[in-house]
Amino acid sequence: MEMLDIIMKKRNGGKLSREEIAFAVNGFTKGEIPDYQMSAFLMAVYFKGMDADETFELTDVMRLSGDIVDLSRIKGVKVDKHSTGGVGDKTTLIVAPIVASRGVPVAKMSGRGLGFSGGTIDKLEAIRGYRTELTEKEFFEQIDRIGIALIGQTGMITPADKKIYALRDVTGTVENMSLIASSIMSKKLAAGSDAIVLDVKCGSGAFMHNIDDARELARIMCEIGDSAGKKTVAMITDMDQPLGNAVGNALEVEEAVQTLKGEGPEDITELSVRLAGMMIALSRGITPEEGTDIARGAITDGSALEKLKELVAAQGGDTAVIDDTSLLPKAECSMEIKAGKGGFVTKIDAEKIGIASRMTGAGREKKDDVIDPAAGIMLRKKRGDITKPGEVLAVLYGKDRDVLAAAAETAGAAFEITESEPEKVDLIKEIIGA
Ligand code: URA
Repeated sequence: MEMLDIIMKKRNGGKLSREEIAFAVNGFTKGEIPDYQMSAFLMAVYFKGMDADETFELTDVMRLSGDIVDLSRIKGVKVDKHSTGGVGDKTTLIVAPIVASRGVPVAKMSGRGLGFSGGTIDKLEAIRGYRTELTEKEFFEQIDRIGIALIGQTGMITPADKKIYALRDVTGTVENMSLIASSIMSKKLAAGSDAIVLDVKCGSGAFMHNIDDARELARIMCEIGDSAGKKTVAMITDMDQPLGNAVGNALEVEEAVQTLKGEGPEDITELSVRLAGMMIALSRGITPEEGTDIARGAITDGSALEKLKELVAAQGGDTAVIDDTSLLPKAECSMEIKAGKGGFVTKIDAEKIGIASRMTGAGREKKDDVIDPAAGIMLRKKRGDITKPGEVLAVLYGKDRDVLAAAAETAGAAFEITESEPEKVDLIKEIIGA
């Protein structure tokens, strides 16, 4: 078999066999196929697409490229959760302690942020001392003891995806349904849970900008999960404006704590209890509505917040910052963005806010950029709010006034203010596979 023949077959619109896909993926992972050939292959897939069989095979080949986590020694139905990535999305920090506090075991591996979207592991590292790496023994012992562990993804899970994703990122081949679906699902299937809840983001701050594409991606991922014997449900949710008010690592930890105290913004609270409710439902075989009631109860009675504290303590973090979030890293400088005119806030472009947040130092452009945990943006107005001229729309935090001034320009351009009230947008647009 020759890589050139496989590239040309896909370029000409042919259907690849499992053997051909495995040859390309495994050869590239082992370093036997060079970047230039894999780049050409990915671009051919980008333009010609893959059908359901090819997408399933690609997922399976990537799943098998590294370790497969065996969670069978943990009792109960383990449910994983994954978001396709967004701006201000701190739901894992809220959802994981909620479900764990209600007896659903959480054995979760999360990622770092790249580009304009954030990552759970960077947020957790804003908590002084929190260890995102545990040994396998520590990971399982902690789940036995407190029902939850939240760590970074180890290098040995789906190394093929890791290498291919890095190449996609620099060759303009990220935004393809089959490539996104196989990348996400190979990791989720290798991570060993029994069921999966996907949060498929839709809007300006997401890979999928419209509902048709989001629905298609959700459908493909649910099919892959179900075919692999793991019940998979996808919730398609709004990412046309940032989720909650906080964007940036310590700011998002603070907002997650507020939400677990029952004092969080409405959108992040609602989405978190709905995602947690779906996870509880899949784990216990009850309805999503019953699961959501249970999730709300875990916030009301304080048990989810207690569980977050237990988690932070178990992984070496300073729990004082949960009791008093003013102890989280604080930025040296801040800068306000004010409304140039009065009216309704009709749009807050999530991508622009994400880019501005990265400019403040809260995110990274390249994989090894260092993050400033205190940097980021607090939105003071959300879509549908009324503003007077000169009122503060958002506050930017960071280390350097000149950098903040440039970021403020980008963030300011995210806001659209008009005279007419915008239509209400559903936070949860559709649920696939329930
Ligand atoms: N997240 C992933 O893990 N992979 C993609 O391709 C896109 C988002």
